[in-house]
Amino acid sequence: MNNANQKKELAILGSTGSIGVNCLDVVHHHSDRFAIRALSTHSRVDEMIVQARQTRPEWVAVTGVQPSQTQMCQLEELNCQVFSGADALQTLVEQADYDMLVNAVVGAAGFLPTCRAIERNKDIALANKETLVMGGSIVMNLVAKHHVNLIPIDSEHSAIFQCLMGETPLSIETILLTASGGPFRTWNKTDIWRAKSRDALKHPNWDMGNKITIDSATMMNKGLEVIEACWLFDLAAARVKVVIHPHSIIHSMVQFIDGSIKAQLGVPDMRIPIQLAISYPNRLASNCERYDLIGGPDLTFEEPDLHRFPCLKLAFQAIESGGTAPAVMNAANEIAVQAFLQDRIGFYDISDTIDQCLQSHDLDHDPDEQSLVHADEWARQIADSLIQKQIG
Ligand code: NDP
Ligand code: MG
Repeated sequence: MNNANQKKELAILGSTGSIGVNCLDVVHHHSDRFAIRALSTHSRVDEMIVQARQTRPEWVAVTGVQPSQTQMCQLEELNCQVFSGADALQTLVEQADYDMLVNAVVGAAGFLPTCRAIERNKDIALANKETLVMGGSIVMNLVAKHHVNLIPIDSEHSAIFQCLMGETPLSIETILLTASGGPFRTWNKTDIWRAKSRDALKHPNWDMGNKITIDSATMMNKGLEVIEACWLFDLAAARVKVVIHPHSIIHSMVQFIDGSIKAQLGVPDMRIPIQLAISYPNRLASNCERYDLIGGPDLTFEEPDLHRFPCLKLAFQAIESGGTAPAVMNAANEIAVQAFLQDRIGFYDISDTIDQCLQSHDLDHDPDEQSLVHADEWARQIADSLIQKQIG
């Protein structure tokens, strides 16, 4: 965006997902400020075509299927240039014109496109937490080298980002990362052990994609977010504390060296952090519901239970190990969550699979981009074969 009257041009990766759709809603409400230049989907091509009719992007990418001839004709009629195949996201971010990349894909697939966009000096609005879990060191080095803004969309990190406005890094004592506790917060271990994917998909507060919803049930989501926070705010994991806050009203807090705590509050609605990320440094009006201090739920807090939710412990171990460990943990988690979603494995097989992958991994302490990609592929294969053995 070159002058104040021009619209900010967005490329949205994963536009057909939960974050993608919410982002398009924000753009629709501020159509005087934002324009869509690029969209992507993995397999929901018809949904993306509907979005393209409304937003008229010049570039689209389809990563998981080959668009049919009819779909290609429809996209051509809309004058869209279509990229397809495994590398389509990287090609799109390298070739399209846009001011900011909104990365709303799920999983490690978000890592390389983020790197390519930063190398083109593009600002990033990041929902895809797996990008930083897999390659936080590489991504943050690129951010520094290319002087781009990387603004978090994840509600906790958006909260911390807001609490840190006007503060200096040296004044931070601890980050207090809030967690809803997910659908099994009050369940005993035996019942959790028996849980099926349909139980885990009933998140109490947030309406999200399937993978992150399962991650919330295992609390791996919070583990991924601890790692994301360490990279975004340049902190050791020991300075990030997870606090269960069942109603998800406080989205996270920062405790400072003088004992002050700053928190960011609001109803659980992802359009608020998405809007801030794409409009930063401005704060725009929104008609999202307001939190009612008098009539709203009480703000309560609990300690997380690492015994019932071992994934959180595994994430702390992975970030402590460093190097390729978080990438391996993330890849094994993606494979295990997919198997759990299909009810091929049980709930605690997710953490067991990740644990075994981490234990058999030969750690690379200082990986480059290719080593991370290899570690990710290696972990997927090992996790797959462990799951095959489990189900016989
Ligand atoms: P969804 O599953 O709803 O959407 C994911 C999007 O990515 C879809 O457009 C999907 O296409 C596409 N996609 C899926 N797999 C691939 C792949 N292998 N390569 C490229 N694109 C792919 O996920 P969410 O919107 O819930 O989450 C997106 C990211 O944001 C995740 O990293 C999540 O952790 C994070 N996040 C989400 C929050 C939420 O409220 N949903 C909150 C905070 C963070 P298709 O539609 O064809 O499947
Ligand atoms: Mg979150």
